[in-house]
Amino acid sequence: MVLDAPTQASASIFEQVAEFQHEQVVYCHDHETGLKAIIGIHNTVLGPALGGTRLWHYATEAEALHDVLRLSRGMTYKAAISGLNLGGGKAVIIGDIKNKNEALLRKFGRFVNNLNGKYITAEDVNMTTKDMEYIRMETKHVAGLPESMGGSGDPSPVTAFGTYMGMKAAAKKAFGSDSLAGKRVAVQGVGHVGTYLLEYLQKEGADLVLTDYYEERAYAAASRFGARAVGLDEIYDQDVDIYAPCALGATINDDTIGRLKCRVIAGSANNQLENENEHGPELVRRGIVYAPDFLINAGGLINVYAEITGSSREGALTQTEKIYDYTLQVLDKAEQENSHPQAAAIRQAQERIAAVGKVKSTY
Ligand code: NAD
Repeated sequence: MVLDAPTQASASIFEQVAEFQHEQVVYCHDHETGLKAIIGIHNTVLGPALGGTRLWHYATEAEALHDVLRLSRGMTYKAAISGLNLGGGKAVIIGDIKNKNEALLRKFGRFVNNLNGKYITAEDVNMTTKDMEYIRMETKHVAGLPESMGGSGDPSPVTAFGTYMGMKAAAKKAFGSDSLAGKRVAVQGVGHVGTYLLEYLQKEGADLVLTDYYEERAYAAASRFGARAVGLDEIYDQDVDIYAPCALGATINDDTIGRLKCRVIAGSANNQLENENEHGPELVRRGIVYAPDFLINAGGLINVYAEITGSSREGALTQTEKIYDYTLQVLDKAEQENSHPQAAAIRQAQERIAAVGKVKSTY
């Protein structure tokens, strides 16, 4: 099966938008503040398009467009498969972090506001809660605010809990039991999510090995969780049962896939498969159970959804726990369809959107 995953940033804007099947793409420009931003609204069948704003020094506008299209489509699938009534959106601000200021952010907030709630923004790379406060001054369509402002606060603990649930489900599939006691787990990246995940794994008695870009962070985590710290590249060669990518995307690629000795891959990083059409089936051929990234790292989005709907953190955790069942369903579906888990997860998300879309058409 070929997924709708375009990779050509060179196609025309309309060609790309058509290929990704976006509803709307908004270019925001302001001469006074120097704001250049793109808001991608992928799909709002299930609800308003929610997704963070990323500030990045893109080399070209085409690269920025490609990123926003890819990321917003991912949000559609993440929300849909998690049973949330949210669509998928994302925004990118093209620029350097040193040029970020109150006026630029508030101008961006006004563009968000002009969409009347069709797009709800939140934090992403290079954006802080302080930045969200500026955007909030111009629009109420912001989520993921600090708890002091009535928001849901740091999503990382909830993301880690969902990742842990997804890992247990994948372990059940691979080993016949979801117990992680004695299982050897390699955690790549011990930042916000990685650290909370290590807490769960330690509590369950897993045998841990880890790495981080910052050596001192890796050693601190190793001593705190009774784990072994290894070098950045060594993580792929570890004799482990489970590999948990919690740092970067695209770590499952032509260079690493043959080195992995694990039977399960389950981590929080986005876009773990460098090429889902190639590496998804390859993992199946190698007998490795892959827990789809956008499914098992949805806890953070579920947490933000709780904020919007006025639910509690406990409510978000209860919803996040269901990632265990959803993961098992997707892994079974992949087997039944003779496909791979990432493709099955995307199809499941698309099926929910199509089904709910029919309900709405009769309203
Ligand atoms: P973070 O920045 O707190 O942690 C990432 C860690 O990875 C850092 O400690 C960093 O030093 C390390 N790292 C960077 N490059 C590395 C490399 N090459 N090898 C090993 N370690 C490396 O980020 P986070 O919030 O913990 O998120 C982790 C991943 O999960 C990211 O990919 C993020 O997009 C994804 N994610 C996070 C959330 C959330 O709620 N925070 C939600 C969904 C997805």
